[in-house]
Amino acid sequence: MHELGIVFHIIDRVDEVAEQNHVSRVKSVTLEIGEVSTIVPVYLRDCWSWAVDNRSKHMKGCELKIDMIKATSYCEDCQKAYPTKPSGRKCPYCGGPHTYLVSGDETTIKNIEVYDEENA
Ligand SMILES: [Zn+2]
Repeated sequence: MHELGIVFHIIDRVDEVAEQNHVSRVKSVTLEIGEVSTIVPVYLRDCWSWAVDNRSKHMKGCELKIDMIKATSYCEDCQKAYPTKPSGRKCPYCGGPHTYLVSGDETTIKNIEVYDEENA
């Protein structure tokens, strides 16, 4: 299970951003996860609450939001893009095998929401 490592990585990054922006507490983090990434969102959520409460300086109780991103592949034979799921590596238009993934295996921090310090 490599999700814990990924959560630690995200926490370090968000803490860093919080410090650079003089934010004391982060309310939520939105992640974009490609649908063919190796990350399992349910495992990510499992480690999240523990990790933010125990490892982070600025993220106690921070909520995790996940946006799944559709994967896209491209076929070099007929030069068309197609949704990776459910076709996989075989092009649905020409049946060719010369395809590659364009997007859909990434994990990125899309948004960091902070508490409004002035009204806190
Ligand atoms: Zn094709």
